[in-house]
Amino acid sequence: MFGTALSQLRYGMAILRNRRIRPQDLERIARDLVATLAEFGEPGADSALLPGQAGAVDPAVRRTVTERSLRATARAAARHTAHYRRTFGALGLDPDTLTPETWHRVPVTPKEALRALPAAFVSAASAPALMTLTTGTSGTPTTVWFSRAEVEISVAMSTVSAVLGQGLRAHHTMAYAGCSRATLPLLNVEESVTRIGASFVQIGTVDPAVALDRLATPLGLRGKAPQITHLTVSASYLSALVEEAERNDWRPADFGLESIGVGGEVLSDPLRERAEAVLGGRISTAYMMTEAVPSGGTTCTEGHLHHTTEFGHMETLDPVTHEPTPPGAVGVIVQTPYVPYRDCTLLLRYATGDLVRRPMAEPACELAHLPATSPVLGRWSGPSSLAVPTRSVLDLLEAEPDVPLPARHALEDRPGGPVLHVLVRRTPATTLLGRLRERATTAGLALDDIVLHDDPATMPPTGPVRADLREHTFESVRPTVVRAGSRT
Ligand SMILES: [Zn+2]
Repeated sequence: MFGTALSQLRYGMAILRNRRIRPQDLERIARDLVATLAEFGEPGADSALLPGQAGAVDPAVRRTVTERSLRATARAAARHTAHYRRTFGALGLDPDTLTPETWHRVPVTPKEALRALPAAFVSAASAPALMTLTTGTSGTPTTVWFSRAEVEISVAMSTVSAVLGQGLRAHHTMAYAGCSRATLPLLNVEESVTRIGASFVQIGTVDPAVALDRLATPLGLRGKAPQITHLTVSASYLSALVEEAERNDWRPADFGLESIGVGGEVLSDPLRERAEAVLGGRISTAYMMTEAVPSGGTTCTEGHLHHTTEFGHMETLDPVTHEPTPPGAVGVIVQTPYVPYRDCTLLLRYATGDLVRRPMAEPACELAHLPATSPVLGRWSGPSSLAVPTRSVLDLLEAEPDVPLPARHALEDRPGGPVLHVLVRRTPATTLLGRLRERATTAGLALDDIVLHDDPATMPPTGPVRADLREHTFESVRPTVVRAGSRT
């Protein structure tokens, strides 16, 4: 949820004086913002954090700051972590001689290395305080340790983002429907929301019917909006909510939602439209991966994903050769989150596996000063994930009401090209199949064929999604007492 902060904090003040934003500056900014809200109800109009307030940055200044940040991060990693001490020693690399031009000499860190031995990436000079697990939808969960100082930084950024990006105020209530084991995001949302004076509800990834019921239930709190106003959710769990809401004739008027923040997975355009149509509220997305916190990205009005340069170094590389991705091509995001924003788990050139396309030309949008890529297209899992990325598949499937949500799909490699297997409500579905084939051709998907199934047992294995991390509850779904409308 702190995507917006990434774009708005950047080159506001400190960096123009050729100095980086210190962690304590972030905390001060968040504190001042909350104090301004408490006194005036709105952030100050002259806030340096508001869009359009940042000055242009001299490229030479930017380069100097990048070089200094890369060196400081490499120095800390080589000195204090077992993994990078060994790596730098074996290669005879001196962190103090690295420049942006020679940064490629640092080997890319594969996900498997962190997953296999998380402690080898923890700085001996740090005090690990919080262990968080990635959800593990792309394999075994990855362990990442954070220090207390890192948690404070991410809470500060989350606070700024909630106020400026999601418009959170004291009379609002935020619900979190993410996995309860992802401790850092959960703690971030809870802490930042309550610091602002707003209220917080943990829903978790429960039965979607229970979640909708909870969102619709009147809160009855003095000084608060009548219902939950803000929701933080993963894309696949949002799709499960849309499925449940559409099938049971829920309408936006049943809820009081103003803003839905979606992260962690690919959000297709059709799912966004369906969610806004049935749940109400404005949907916003940001890119942030636990391992790379607080380095991440935010989307602009033209639909690019813009990446922070303040808190980390982002590269787009070929998933196999690790050569830089040329403009117009697809590569994986490789992240180096900077010290001092990170001091516990240190990662250099961490291959996230997230696929993005580089733009053909420099963008001319409101965030043009930050490097741009396409939104995340999917996860690297071999050549077919490049040829037919998850985003293209979801754009195709999530537009079709006869495909149950979350959409279940699998690509099967065949000599003529991948075959897309899709779970539908019922077969035969000749019209649906014809339409999907036609739309796939129009979209230029390199598919050999599409096969529809009405039984999951006949499908090739489909990838897990976050909505599958279902948490059990003892609640049965109550009859609809909260809706005065049509449901019987
Ligand atoms: Zn843009």
